[in-house]
Amino acid sequence: MHDTKQQPIELTRPSLPDMTEYIEEIKDLWESRFLTNMGVKHRQFATALSEKLGARVALFTNGHLALEAVLAAFDLRGEVITTPFTFASTTHAIVRSGLEPVFCDVDPATGLLDPARIEALITNRTSAILPVHVYGQACDTDAIDSIARRYGLKVIYDAAHAFGVSVGDRPIGSFGDASVFSFHATKVFQTAEGGAVTGRDPILFDRLDLLKNFGITGPESVVCCGGNAKMNEFQAALGLCNLRHINDEIRLRELLVSRYHTWLFAVPGIRLLPIQPDVRSNYAYFPVFFHAGHEARDAVYLELRRQGINCRKYFYPLTSSFACYAGRFDLIQTPAAQALAGQVLCLPLYPDLPNADIDRICAVVREVRLTR
Ligand SMILES: *Cc1c(COP(=O)(O)O)cnc(C)c1O
Repeated sequence: MHDTKQQPIELTRPSLPDMTEYIEEIKDLWESRFLTNMGVKHRQFATALSEKLGARVALFTNGHLALEAVLAAFDLRGEVITTPFTFASTTHAIVRSGLEPVFCDVDPATGLLDPARIEALITNRTSAILPVHVYGQACDTDAIDSIARRYGLKVIYDAAHAFGVSVGDRPIGSFGDASVFSFHATKVFQTAEGGAVTGRDPILFDRLDLLKNFGITGPESVVCCGGNAKMNEFQAALGLCNLRHINDEIRLRELLVSRYHTWLFAVPGIRLLPIQPDVRSNYAYFPVFFHAGHEARDAVYLELRRQGINCRKYFYPLTSSFACYAGRFDLIQTPAAQALAGQVLCLPLYPDLPNADIDRICAVVREVRLTR
C-alpha cells in the first residue's frame, strides 16, 4: 500500500505573488491608514482590471454579493431563466433577491445553458436570463444576447469561472448587460475573497456604487437601502500583484490540461470537454465525464480520495435539487443537466501542479476504468 503514503494532492491551490512583492504593494497602507472605502489600491485595481476585462468594472468583496447587487441594480421582477448546473451562489442569488429561478436545460456536451431551449420558457413574468460560463468555457453569447434583445430581457452572465476568457477578439466581460466575476481563493484569478461586475451602462455602475456602500452619497446623505459589499485595500493590493502574473498562470494551466488530454482522451467510457474553436479558455477546471454514469464516476472518485487525491463532483447535485429547495422545482425539466451531474468529476488543476501528479492521477483513473 505504498500509494496511500504519497503526498495528498489538492483540487486547487491559490497562486500567490512573492511575499516581498505583496509587502511592497501594501507598504503605503501603513502610512495612509486608509484600509477600505475605495482607497488608492481599489482605484488602481479597478483601472487595471477594466483594461484587462475590456469593460467598466465595479469591485466587490466577493462574487456572490456582486451578483445580488446586479440583480438589485436592474430592479428585476418575476422570473429569471437560469441553469441548475452551477455553484449554489447562482441560484441562491436569484432566490435571495425575491426572484423565481426558471431552470433551462444545458447542452449535454458542454454543460452550458442551451439557447435553443430558452424561448419556450419565456413568459410575461420573465425579466432576465442568467447563464453561467461553466469551467471557463464561453456560453453561446450571440444566441443568448439576441434572444434577450428580441424579448426585452436583461442578460447577466455568471462569469465566476471565466476570468481572462475571450470569444474571437472580444473579452468575455463585454457580453450581455453585465457579467459577474469571482476572485475567491479557488478561482483562476484570486484576491482571497473578491469579485467584480463588468458592463457598459453608466447608470448600472452608479447604482452598484450605492448598493455596495449602504446607499451613502455624502456624510449626511443616504439615497437608497444598500448593503455593504466593498472590496478592501488588502484584497485590491493582492489583486494588483496577481494581475501581473495571470497570463503566465493561464499558460501553465493550458500545458497541464494538454497533458491530461494526452493521457485521457482515448480512454473508453470517458468524455472530455470539446474544444470551443473561437474561444480562448482560461482552463479553470478539468472535468471528466463518465458516460456509464454515476457508478463508474463514484468508483473513480472514491479511489482517488482513498489515495489522497482531492477531486470534486462539480456540479452534483444540481442546485434545483438542493435540500433547501425540496419540492420546489421540477427536475424532469432538465434531463441533460441531470445526466451530467451524475457523470462529472473535476480533477486537480492549479498552475504549480507537478506533471508527475497528473501522471499519477491519470494512472488511477485509467486503472479503475479499465478494471471495472
Ligand atoms: C465561486 C462562484 C460564485 C461565487 O463567488 P464568491 O466570490 O465565492 O462569492 C458564483 N458562481 C459560480 C459559478 C462560482 O463558481
